Amino acid sequence: MTNPLRPSPLVSHLRRHESLTAGSTELVLAGTTGMCRGVKRALGMVAKAREGLSDGRRVLLLHEIIHNPTVGRWLRAGGIETLDTEADEWWAALSAADTVIIPAFGATVNDERLLRAAGVKVIDTTCPSVRGVWSRVSAYAQAGFTTVLHGRPDHPETRATLSRAIAAGGHYLVVREAADAREVAEVIGGAENGGVVRLGEGVLSPGFESARDLTRIGLVNQTTMLADESREIAAVLGDALIRRYGDRELESRFRTFGTICRATQERQDAIRRLTNRALDLLFVVGGHASSNTRHLAELGGRSVRTYHVEGPQALQSLTALRHQSLGTRTAAIDDIAWLADLPHRVVGFAGGASTPDAEVGETMVRLLLLLGEPCPPVAEAERILAAHG
Ligand code: SF4
Repeated sequence: MTNPLRPSPLVSHLRRHESLTAGSTELVLAGTTGMCRGVKRALGMVAKAREGLSDGRRVLLLHEIIHNPTVGRWLRAGGIETLDTEADEWWAALSAADTVIIPAFGATVNDERLLRAAGVKVIDTTCPSVRGVWSRVSAYAQAGFTTVLHGRPDHPETRATLSRAIAAGGHYLVVREAADAREVAEVIGGAENGGVVRLGEGVLSPGFESARDLTRIGLVNQTTMLADESREIAAVLGDALIRRYGDRELESRFRTFGTICRATQERQDAIRRLTNRALDLLFVVGGHASSNTRHLAELGGRSVRTYHVEGPQALQSLTALRHQSLGTRTAAIDDIAWLADLPHRVVGFAGGASTPDAEVGETMVRLLLLLGEPCPPVAEAERILAAHG
């Protein structure tokens, strides 16, 4: 299988020159895009671990290393297995001869304990930005504040972070979006009267009691959430506490610390700048399970027709574009043949923090070929690398 982490001549060119014109099509790349430092660091550590395969050790991943299916397939093809943390038999089969890689999202306190008990060699690629959130959550719990986390309850990073609140003797509540925060705000208003948070499965710590656990709140975010939505959530919860306890109590009852990581913020800012241009279409390339990629696509979709695609395979033809719908987050097929009818077209591209450059570059080449455009030399180099790299 071709190495998905190979360089992309086209993306490198666009990083230097921002846009490239091929026939009647102008390709424009977001100013900051593609793999972040935390992901590159994690993949570098995995690459070293792969070398260990030659001495016969099993190398296993605790969950996916990043949410990118191409990278996942490439690692599996290279002999790296994924440990099924839900299955007891996987834990029972671990031995001191195994190496287990903790992904950039981190691991729960319990999974770390099980790994220590198994005596395996651990390669911990947890991103320092994720560790920063853990410190914040532990401090909240120690100070008697309930952690309210803006994130996806089922995301491995969220699970790992919440386990730190429990380990420090605290409680937690997860809000997925501003609408959830508004529900929590209503409960804060009536907490003493037995208001109960009803946000579904997995969002409350065991034994959570609204009347007790919503009186002091410390807010954090999953590192890859939409920054403006996190700010809205902070405002909603802060206002609710003011209404309930008065202005003067806010400082002693509410703490908030933006834990959107810098890489996420920079990529979101770059999408805003890109969509200030007159684009006909925007492609955001990256795994459909990737939270940061999805948020970039949602942000783009506010002002430009935007498609979240996983890579060049999404472009079967101009009449069958496979993407993930921004609203429903389900697989969808769309027709973009209208693009070919434009006398001149400007198409924007961006990759998520877990997207290899090669996937963005190949998606561009695929689009040019479908539009019947002449491939400039850098695009041709991209095509050759994809075929033989
Ligand atoms: S997106 Fe942020 S938190 Fe996640 S790996 Fe990259 S730098 Fe770290």
